[in-house]
Parts: sequence; C-alpha cells; structure tokens
Amino acid sequence: MEVGTTRNVVIVGSGPAGLTAAVYTARANLQPLVIEGELSSTSDQPGGQLMLTTDVENFPGFPNGIMGPQLMMSMREQAERFGAEIVTKKATKVDLSASPIAIWTEDPDAAEPDVTTKSLIISTGASSLMLGLPNEARLLGYGVSTCATCDGFFFRDKRIAVIGGGDSALEEALFLTKFGDSVTIVHRRKELRASKIMQDRAFKNEKIDFVWDSAVVDILGDEKVSGIKIQDVITGEDRELAVDGVFVAIGHEPNTGLFKGQLAMDAAGYLVTEGGTRTALPGVFACGDVQDHVYRQAITAAGSGCMAAIDTERYLASFE
Ligand code: NAP
Repeated sequence: MEVGTTRNVVIVGSGPAGLTAAVYTARANLQPLVIEGELSSTSDQPGGQLMLTTDVENFPGFPNGIMGPQLMMSMREQAERFGAEIVTKKATKVDLSASPIAIWTEDPDAAEPDVTTKSLIISTGASSLMLGLPNEARLLGYGVSTCATCDGFFFRDKRIAVIGGGDSALEEALFLTKFGDSVTIVHRRKELRASKIMQDRAFKNEKIDFVWDSAVVDILGDEKVSGIKIQDVITGEDRELAVDGVFVAIGHEPNTGLFKGQLAMDAAGYLVTEGGTRTALPGVFACGDVQDHVYRQAITAAGSGCMAAIDTERYLASFE
C-alpha cells in the first residue's frame, strides 16, 4: 500500500459485494485498493460469510454447487488479475467528512491517516449474532461454534445441537449430519423461519430432530461442552440436553460500527442507501449485506457490488 497518494477508490470489505466492486472498478482502470479485513473474530472475516459456509448451490454458473471459500478465492483472484490491490488489514477509523476521505488501518489515534481516497465503497457485510450467555463465550472453540464448515469435522459421531430456526440453522444442521451421530435443532418457536425447501430437507433427514418452543438458557461443561440447559418458553420448565457441540445460527448484525455518527443507519444498524448504492455523502457508496437486510444472498451482494462500482465510476467521471 503506497503511502501519501490519494486513491481513486478504496473498498472496505471483501465478501461478494466488495470483490465484485473490485473486479468492476479494476476493469474500469481505477486501480482500487481493497482493505479486506483481518481474521480476528466472526466480524473480521476476509472473504465474508461465505468463508464460513459449505456448499453454495444457488450461485448461478455452478450447476453442481461450489464451496463458499473456493468461490471467494476465485473472486479474489479475478479482482487481482485486473489490478486490484488487496491488503489484509482492518480499517480502524474513517473520516468521511475529510476531503479526500481519510482511512486509518493501524493506530486509529494517529494524526495522519494511512490512506486517503476520492471515493469509498463500503462492503463490510454482517456477522453472526450470539446468544449472549457467559458460558457461550467461555466455551467458544471448545464445543461452541458459529461455523459448521470450520468445525463440523471435530464432531464426528458426536451429539450436536444447532440453535435457531432460519435457513442458516437448517443449513448448518444438514451439513453437520455428515459428521454427527445426531443433530438436534433447538428453536424458540414452533414454526421455522427457513425456506420450504430447507425445511423439507431437514424434516426428511433421519439424523435431525427438533426441540420446539425452547430457549437455550445455559451452555454446560467445564473444559468443553457437555450439554445445554433449555427452557420451555410455554411451561417455563428447565431441562438439560447432553450434547458435545453447540452451533449458534441465530442470524447476523451489520458491521457498521466504523461509520456510526457519520452515515445514516436504520433501526437495526444497516446503512441507508438511495437510488442504488449512494449514501447521503457524495463519493461514499455502500453495497452488500451492510445495507441489505432483505435479500442477503451472495448473488444479490455481488450484484450490488457491481452497482456500487458503476455508481463510483460515474461519480469520479463527473469531475473530469
Ligand atoms: P434469520 O432468517 O434471521 O433466522 C434467525 C433464526 O434465529 C430465527 O429462527 C430466529 O427465531 C432465531 N433467533 C434469533 N435470535 C435468537 C435468540 N436470541 N435466541 C434464539 N433464537 C434466536 O437468519 P439466518 O438463518 O442467518 O438467515 C439470514 C438470511 O440469509 C435469510 O434471508 C435466509 O433466507 C438467508 N440464508 C439463505 C441460505 C440458503 O438459501 N441456503 C442459507 C443461509 C441463510 P425466530 O424465527 O423466532 O425469529
């Protein structure tokens, strides 16, 4: 990363939205810089959420499906092929009121930013929600996981619980049946939120059973998970379920902390965009899950990354 020169465009975030924006802006000869993030938590995952998934069966062009991490590596290679510069760092602070826009990737208290840019594409995505139980944090990596792809292998012939009732929970549960002896989906209601096709698959799978109307109130185990305590939300009764692994799959929150106070957000913290990917600030664009809580698909994120790139190109061209 060259210090001192102002970039045409910086892209913060490297999921399908960010890398598609990188492919398009690179092909438009804008020499984009992608700040891809650093692997430190579920919210700082270079490559985004697809790095934590298994088979992607609905991304057009792959009739037999493709593994999420492989898809992301291919997008990254494609962006680099056209000249995108990708740095494995985290943006620690941004000043969107500065002209040019200022971005820090090291010490956020440093007087000088690490990079300045004429335009910014925000594609920081969303990350996994957690239950918020004290033992959940303590046992993360010791039986508690948010990623079946990464950790499923460790639960061969084990008893597994998956928490949640959406597509993520069912996808994780179905994947985990390849390893586990049994997979119990614990859901706080009696109806699943997941799509019909996923529900059908889960109901048909002999290894999967359901515990309905139940909240997980504790995760048990000293050095590793030995079970969960669940509460029937109707009767209030507590009971314990012996499991070796707990996969939390209860949804996501947008990674927008960096932009608080500088950009408009909705009640859930997603960035507000108008007329495509434009934010209220000239030269600042947002695409992918960070501004989309409705569709949240890899293909829609990639599509909005393309829109952000075109919006950026037009914005920059307007000064020429
Ligand atoms: P989601 O649809 O928001 O579902 C979250 C689930 O977790 C809901 O069932 C919710 O319960 C439950 N939940 C939330 N907070 C909870 C808490 N504190 N304690 C217990 N349960 C809690 O999230 P998602 O499953 O991650 O899916 C997000 C989006 O991505 C959806 O649009 C989905 O269709 C899509 N997606 C698609 C695929 C696919 O097509 N293969 C795969 C994954 C995700 P309630 O139902 O009671 O609210």
